[in-house]
Amino acid sequence: QTPDDPPMPRHRVTTKGNNVPEHVESFEVLRERYQLSNHLLANLAEHGYKRPTGIQSYGIPILMEHRDLAAISPTGTGKTLSYLLPVMSALGVPAASSKSDTGSGVRALILAPTRELAHQIHNECLKLAQGRKWRIVLFSKATAATLKDKTVGDKVDIMISTPLRLVASLQAGNLELNNVRHVVLDEADRMLDAEFLNQVQEVIAACTHPHVQKAVFSATLPANAEQVAMSMLRDPIRVVVGLKDT
Ligand code: ADP
Ligand code: MG
Repeated sequence: QTPDDPPMPRHRVTTKGNNVPEHVESFEVLRERYQLSNHLLANLAEHGYKRPTGIQSYGIPILMEHRDLAAISPTGTGKTLSYLLPVMSALGVPAASSKSDTGSGVRALILAPTRELAHQIHNECLKLAQGRKWRIVLFSKATAATLKDKTVGDKVDIMISTPLRLVASLQAGNLELNNVRHVVLDEADRMLDAEFLNQVQEVIAACTHPHVQKAVFSATLPANAEQVAMSMLRDPIRVVVGLKDT
């Protein structure tokens, strides 16, 4: 280790579930094990992501094996990349430039409780996507308005949204989520709280593809929210990261 290459803080990580995939100590291992593309690896390096954080080292392999995941890890530990990297890896080539039929509609959906957070996730997504023509949509009032001509909901690789606006478009019949293969709830403690629960459940129910992968991420997950989360997931793995000596 060189002085300009400080280690990420050490974390205590516990996992629970069936056949938990082995964690990774580096991003390069993901190329060997899961064919993570050189393009995504280069973008990680470009943005100074040298090695995975605790939640990344455990969470990424789980999602890359297309398992459902409930991840609990403190604020600032890199939860965003933990789901964006596997989702982008799984999507492969952008839908719009694909010759093969990747299907139409939204391919991955990320839900966040506030517009501000959705915006941050969108920015992180754009960093990873650099150099590829991904269709990444931050769902907004303006986007919702253009949905009526059926262009925005068509061939979207990744859609990031708050639940309320999405539900409005679903109910208006302007958006179909039946081709979604990956759903992520970020800040799941809030998403599964009374304020958002009905909306979230409505969105999840609209994601009818039989192989849809679901993941929830949160800094904390109270027992009742965890119960709701677990009931939404299929054969889930639970990962909890705690700062050492706290
Ligand atoms: P969380 O959602 O857990 O609160 P974020 O995903 O917002 O954390 O990440 C916090 C910060 O850490 C961001 O600025 C992000 O770019 C940075 N980060 C994430 N992963 C790494 C990594 N592996 N190496 C260095 N910085 C990282
Ligand atoms: Mg976060």
